[in-house]
Amino acid sequence: RGPGHPPRHVTARVAPLGSQLVLALVEDRTRERRIEAVRRDFVANVSHELKTPVGAVRLLAEAVGDASDDPEAVERFAGRMITESERLGTLVQQIIELSRLQADDPLEEPADVDVASVLHHAVDQTAIEARARDITVVTQAEPGLQVVGNEEQVTVAVANLVANAVHYSPRGSSVLVAARADDDTVEVGVTDQGIGIPAGEIDRIFERFYRVDPARHRSTGGTGLGLSIVKHVAATHGGDVRVWSVEGEGSTFTLSLPRAATAGAPAPAPPHHV
Ligand code: ADP
Repeated sequence: RGPGHPPRHVTARVAPLGSQLVLALVEDRTRERRIEAVRRDFVANVSHELKTPVGAVRLLAEAVGDASDDPEAVERFAGRMITESERLGTLVQQIIELSRLQADDPLEEPADVDVASVLHHAVDQTAIEARARDITVVTQAEPGLQVVGNEEQVTVAVANLVANAVHYSPRGSSVLVAARADDDTVEVGVTDQGIGIPAGEIDRIFERFYRVDPARHRSTGGTGLGLSIVKHVAATHGGDVRVWSVEGEGSTFTLSLPRAATAGAPAPAPPHHV
């Protein structure tokens, strides 16, 4: 720190009377600056991430034009154009999803959300990829289990976990999507027998746009946004998301969310006053 950046407690000490207020203002400004830095970073990342597939589509289109007398090359370039434009589509969809999520507070108008129905819809969204690669997705949820929050957001979060489990798993393996309840939380666990995550990377996978060495992936598919969306949904619902993983063996992600008081089993009894 140079002289232009006094430590925060010094700023508070020079105004003993209003020290609480000054401290609050300084903390507010620090927070604002941090939010602004995150926003700038996000915009820079988004621009970079969007430019890559757009540039690729353009180059491939030029290549198709140049290869008009070579039908095999045309087919190959066209296939890659489809992959890149699909990636672009997913990226745009996830960026829109993320900004919509950030604008809404799910607990402003909380609803009781049926967990079995969330799992059903989430698994449905990955059914085509799972079937194409012969991956069995098993769901287990006690009937009547409910969480508090926003159904669409919870479904997006679980669907992202299921999509990853399928995406990073070998042909013919299984994925288990199971919900169980504690007193006041519901834990949705998604377990796969996939490629796993190297121990050194686990701390970073929830960051926006972070992807573990894309070279080890089956295809270029992902965007690196899926888990940051899950983390955001967990945080705004007052829950959390955790991961256990062994490289080469598989991973389990658990999403914990607040359980609705009316859920299946009787709600915990209120404290008894004598
Ligand atoms: P992506 O769109 O790349 O899947 P995510 O944010 O969903 O982005 O995940 C970040 C990274 O974490 C992925 O690129 C992948 O390397 C790793 N990852 C996520 N889920 C799994 C999983 N179930 N098995 C192995 N690796 C995973």
